[in-house]
Amino acid sequence: MNNRCALVSKVIPFSCVDGPGSRLALFLQGCNLRCKTCHNPWTIGRCNDCAACVPHCPHDALNIQAGRVWWDEAHCQQCDTCLQMCPQQATPMAQRLSVEEVVAQVRKVSPFISGITVSGGEATTQLPFLLALFATLKADPLLRHLSCLVDSNGLLSETGWQKLLPVLDGAMLDLKAWDNEHHRYLTGRDNAPIKHSIRWLAGHNRLSELRLLVIPERCDYLTHRRELIAFIRRLGDVPVRINAFHTHGVYGEARHWRSATAEDVEPLAEVLERERIRVIRPALYL
Ligand code: SF4
Ligand code: SF4
Repeated sequence: MNNRCALVSKVIPFSCVDGPGSRLALFLQGCNLRCKTCHNPWTIGRCNDCAACVPHCPHDALNIQAGRVWWDEAHCQQCDTCLQMCPQQATPMAQRLSVEEVVAQVRKVSPFISGITVSGGEATTQLPFLLALFATLKADPLLRHLSCLVDSNGLLSETGWQKLLPVLDGAMLDLKAWDNEHHRYLTGRDNAPIKHSIRWLAGHNRLSELRLLVIPERCDYLTHRRELIAFIRRLGDVPVRINAFHTHGVYGEARHWRSATAEDVEPLAEVLERERIRVIRPALYL
């Protein structure tokens, strides 16, 4: 029995947007990037029990006991008022789940899914849990056919990826900007470690998908198209998913940025396709 725990913001038993096929998607709480464009900004921080959200819950689903915030799932109406009130970009609804508890949820839906995707926040910020979860699934004769994927920002070190490699079937990574300064502006961090992770995973046949985010007037892929194309071509036959920025859920200045349309995405998609790079276009525009 593995009792290692993770702070989990959400479990979706059947997702068709978190990797191939129908998948159980596990969203871990906490992220080491600060993307202005994040659609789930309440998954970035960790709750410090400040209680600022408690009086604002319209359904009495939050209270304070012994200095800790308690969430009453039975009363919660998922109205998300508490998320808007949190100064930490956290949620009082995150739960501590053990590997065994997550595996039990996977077992219930296993006949209907093709795998599990761990996302976030940033999945790899809780690496020991991730390792234990994937190892447990791979060791179980009834669950080992399920593919184990991570949706990652790519900040994990090479040492971390090496640990994950034996139990990881694939990773989907984002490169939010080509230029380092622009990447810092959008995410708060350098992109050199992310580019290194992308190259390293491709070299080890674990890069399932590279993701680019088109933000109108604020993305630099076409400015640096030659370097970007050379970089992608060296990865081998890896599909590039182009995501279209939209403001749904976004906090801060990016709330006022323009959402991307097909006209914003097409120039990049066409440039990449001319170079015989496999492109996956946005499924929908909001
Ligand atoms: S989402 Fe938050 S504010 Fe809304 S009912 Fe649930 S705990 Fe209360
Ligand atoms: S979720 Fe946010 S507002 Fe609520 S207690 Fe935790 S840190 Fe404070």
